Amino acid sequence: MDRSNIVNFGAGPSALPRSVLEEATKGLLNYNGTGMGITEISHRSKEFSQLIQSLERDIREVLSVPETHSIVFAQGGGTTQFSAVVLNLLARHRLLFPDLPDEDRVMDYVVTGNWSKKAAEEARRLAGKAKVNVVVDARQFSADGKSFDNIPPHDKWTLSQAPAFVYYCENETVDGVQFAHLPGPTAFPFDLLGEGGRDKFIPLIGDYSSSFMSRPIPNLADHALIYAGAQKNIGPAGLTILIVRKDLLVDVDAAAKLGATPVPLMLSYKTLADSGSLYNTPPMFPVYVSSLVIKCIQELGGITYMEQFNEAKRRALYHALEKGKEAGVFNLRVKEGSRSWMNCTFTIPGEGREQDFIDGAVKRGLLQLKGHRCVSLSAHDCVLTPMQISRRYD
Ligand code: PMP
Repeated sequence: MDRSNIVNFGAGPSALPRSVLEEATKGLLNYNGTGMGITEISHRSKEFSQLIQSLERDIREVLSVPETHSIVFAQGGGTTQFSAVVLNLLARHRLLFPDLPDEDRVMDYVVTGNWSKKAAEEARRLAGKAKVNVVVDARQFSADGKSFDNIPPHDKWTLSQAPAFVYYCENETVDGVQFAHLPGPTAFPFDLLGEGGRDKFIPLIGDYSSSFMSRPIPNLADHALIYAGAQKNIGPAGLTILIVRKDLLVDVDAAAKLGATPVPLMLSYKTLADSGSLYNTPPMFPVYVSSLVIKCIQELGGITYMEQFNEAKRRALYHALEKGKEAGVFNLRVKEGSRSWMNCTFTIPGEGREQDFIDGAVKRGLLQLKGHRCVSLSAHDCVLTPMQISRRYD
């Protein structure tokens, strides 16, 4: 099958722009006239330093990241951040409140889908005596009482009084549930953080793995950390991008002396930031490809262009699915207002219809449409999730 005849809907790893792949092929053989490929030069070389610094500058420019935040490149994907968040933030909390009994340290998790659920489970593993408070579990507000199909009403959220941090996942890739990016009932309730006598500077952590660079990040400056694996929107797997507020860059060894769990150096935000993301050998090829993708986004018109482009695709796709729903062909899983721009989940009623759909799609060059293995199938429904709706640049 020829690349030009297919549409790759893979949720991640996802399709990359053809122009980027062509350029990257050249860079693999001879990067910037050095006579060496990008994976063959030293990560301490002038060329690579310039590359990683320009990637940082370009991300800062495209997303208007303020100087209060550092941009850090890590490895290990989103899953590693599930652990790193807990360790770094509990270390920070220990430094701020050394005498607080561990039982009184609380981590707040907003559970709106499979990825935030996993993150909360990892927090429980690493918590020691600290507690995990589930602020809200969206399944309780679903149509069948067990699915992730909505952003729950804000008045049902129970934030702790003084948590070490509040965690949410902006776009739930598997379930197709996303917070709205404009204010409203399904947007993230940033105001809640500062209500009821709570400190509005409680560290807010956002997993942006599957929506990074797809549209502007609302209230970016109010976040203590935003992170995203590269493989869904900006490059190959292996690179994780962190936008981290500088007060999170804490001395984890000093915290360990006070009783906090020691943090592996490669997970320490301060270690990564202090070394310019070069504490060890970084994933050079993903850094390179990501830098080409960001340049591509800049040339297209930046984040405003991405927002308009993705909005147009979202509108067209959901319109078609709504029509299919009226005709009894499709069922949409997620409630209106909580539907993802990035991953659209829908079901096809009828025995064997899912396979028919996928077979028909493959014949037409529409690839990687099948849903995630985590989503359980109900008796007569077929689940197709996540469907990538916003990846095509070329
Ligand atoms: N968070 C979200 C929202 C994701 O979609 C994923 C990956 N599908 C992860 C976290 C885990 O990322 P990784 O595979 O890079 O560890």
